[in-house]
Amino acid sequence: MSNDPYAWIEQSLATIHKANWYRVVQTIDSRPGATIQMEGRSLLNFASNDYLGLAGDERLIQAAITATQIYGAGSTGSRLLSGHRELHRELERAIAILKQTDDALVFSSGYLANLGTIAALVDKRDLILSDQYNHSCLKNGALLSGATIIEYPHGDILFLKTQLEQRDRYRRCLIMTDSVFSMDGDLCPLPELIDLAAQFNCMLLIDEAHATGVFGETGAGCVEHFNLTGSPLIQVGTLSKALGSLGGYVAGSAALIDFLRNRAASWIYTTALSPADTAAAIAAISIVREEPDRRQKLWQNINYLKQLLTQELPQLKLLPSESPILCLQLADAATALKFGSDLKELGIFAPAIRPPTVPTSRIRFSIMATHELSQIEQLVEILCQLNSQVHFKI
Ligand code: PMP
Repeated sequence: MSNDPYAWIEQSLATIHKANWYRVVQTIDSRPGATIQMEGRSLLNFASNDYLGLAGDERLIQAAITATQIYGAGSTGSRLLSGHRELHRELERAIAILKQTDDALVFSSGYLANLGTIAALVDKRDLILSDQYNHSCLKNGALLSGATIIEYPHGDILFLKTQLEQRDRYRRCLIMTDSVFSMDGDLCPLPELIDLAAQFNCMLLIDEAHATGVFGETGAGCVEHFNLTGSPLIQVGTLSKALGSLGGYVAGSAALIDFLRNRAASWIYTTALSPADTAAAIAAISIVREEPDRRQKLWQNINYLKQLLTQELPQLKLLPSESPILCLQLADAATALKFGSDLKELGIFAPAIRPPTVPTSRIRFSIMATHELSQIEQLVEILCQLNSQVHFKI
């Protein structure tokens, strides 16, 4: 037996390499946007969650600078100790107005919002029913809570209903789902989930990370898109995607938010969101409200890309998508990696997503409001070029 207790780490890394699962970080040397600088070249960016193109917007940058000048670089403590600023409440009010909920609570990230909320809502006496494709932070929040977890097959309402027949064995029940699935781009069946939650007296948590700013007439998310504003939900989300900043939130009833301030460990025991991130998010929510044309441009771009792909490359295996996330399925991890690096060579940045993150390998394209139509045409031309290579024929 080896006397190095850390030797297994090298072995584990070797296994990860062998499976083509090894992850590398790629450096971007410019402001976020539809084009970015990488390795001394300009690339078309189809890899960003910055759906409205706000992360590089001058107004967010100026808001962050001003808040930093007034309040400093860091918040210096938890909200309950030295970290609370009026800016935090201003942001929480803006989120609550956008979502049309009583109140909201901001966390340092969407990941922490889900961990803290789920673990505060349920414990070992309770049941969690979770979509199998939910984001890692919902899954880890469920594990942290100690509740019994049943993962239901993706979007399978009938399966979920069958499982809910056991609901009476448990004290509380929490159904949880992403609204837009981050690695597929499809939507959850929200109206059916709300009905089931009501029928079986369950709480329903919906993660609007990829929907906020993108879906709904005012950009409130999928809840608004499905005309379900005002439903008894726990809405979680992030400030880091369409809102272009950093941080997470929960929106819901006044009692829920008050309870989380007292029970969510990932809110109580962590440093408050920085003044810069908070102010940038406030500026972003104003832009979401005042510039609906950004959202319209995003949807125009999404529809244009789909239309071109149907016309030019009907043979591509695209996962069903109803969002700015569009995934091209590829045979295996090695093919996806090669496809990703060839795309980059030809001027497109879009990442290969592989197991264990997802069950099957794919390239994930995300569309932004700030893409020009000509840039979308360029993407399709390059895909045509790659598809003509024997290697990628599918
Ligand atoms: N939920 C979903 C569905 C996500 O895709 C992500 C981020 N990838 C998160 C939550 C976490 O948000 P954040 O990046 O703010 O931690």
